[in-house]
Amino acid sequence: MKRQVWVDIDLEALSENLKKVRELVGDSVRIAAILKQSAYGHGLIPVARKLYQGGIDCFGVASINEAIQLREDGYRGQIILLSIVSKELAPFFIRFGITPTVAEQSFAQELNYQAKKINKTIPIHIKVDTGMGRLGFYPDQTYSFLEKIKGLEFISLEGIYTHFPVADTNSKFTVQQLNIFQNLIKELKEKNIDFKYYHSANSLGVVNYPDSYLNMVRPGLILYGIKPSSNLAIEVKPVLSFKSRIIFIKEVPPGKTVGYGSDFVTKGKTRIATVSVGYADGYPWALSNCAQVLIRGKIFNIAGRVCMDHIMVDLGSDKEIKKGDVVTLIGKDKKEEIKAEKVAKWAQTIPYEIVTRISAEIPRHYLGS
Ligand SMILES: *Cc1c(COP(=O)(O)O)cnc(C)c1O
Repeated sequence: MKRQVWVDIDLEALSENLKKVRELVGDSVRIAAILKQSAYGHGLIPVARKLYQGGIDCFGVASINEAIQLREDGYRGQIILLSIVSKELAPFFIRFGITPTVAEQSFAQELNYQAKKINKTIPIHIKVDTGMGRLGFYPDQTYSFLEKIKGLEFISLEGIYTHFPVADTNSKFTVQQLNIFQNLIKELKEKNIDFKYYHSANSLGVVNYPDSYLNMVRPGLILYGIKPSSNLAIEVKPVLSFKSRIIFIKEVPPGKTVGYGSDFVTKGKTRIATVSVGYADGYPWALSNCAQVLIRGKIFNIAGRVCMDHIMVDLGSDKEIKKGDVVTLIGKDKKEEIKAEKVAKWAQTIPYEIVTRISAEIPRHYLGS
């Protein structure tokens, strides 16, 4: 049976993007490649393997589960969990050698207790909130927290980090955050608290704020060849393509409605193709009546609303296109290309959401592994 809907992952493009990031940050800065949410929908293990071959220094994940999958695949390097989890999960950090983000005293105590049981020291990274308003201590709370956990002898302070909310839209605020963070680092140093790793840069930091590199960076989206904002001065190559096929075509006279809500009406005689993908596959409903797709290297508009398992495409006067033809939703077809950034714009969302929402059930095919 022919594949009906699938995702192609170009691992060579992934390697090239990693090289670009390495060129930017240089050899002395550690790269933590961010693999949250199954490598932004690209598939955790194949992506991790390729990045590891390409010389990343460590990984950042969003869940214990992802970290354990990496361990089970045999990866022995560092894995940093960028989120906060319940302290019942503390034993997993010790058992699988996962580096936690710490922003609570009770969690630090539990980690220390679990580590002590097996007489092993666990490195931790401290999160500082310089303006994200999400996880972590405010800068002025950080020292007193560190004082409180000073006596926990099975914990070692390895890293301290912060995160940028507006690195694309507000450089003044971002530079300010960086200053606050650097002042904190200095203040802690004066108090004899030293960390091995200092980090703040996400993709935007990597491209736009060289001062934010410190000695470690955390790029996610640009590794996947997607730009978090337009006009970003880096050339990266999209890694993911999202494809489906035409399962049905019919001739439609003028004045007929197409799809739920009957809000698409044919202007003239046309052909309407039904394609095997819908919002349940992660092709957003918000693309109803506004997205384009590629078939045989040509651009077509979708007709009507996105259904659960189908979309309809207006083929107009085209005579060439047949049932079974490949439909590119994201990706290249001959000279034309639809990027995830473009799809995000049509759906009025961000490219992160477009790629992470492509259903995990859809097979990923890895090219260039
Ligand atoms: C997701 C995430 C990143 C990576 O962000 P990109 O914009 O994809 O580069 C870096 N740091 C933290 C803490 C994150 O949560």
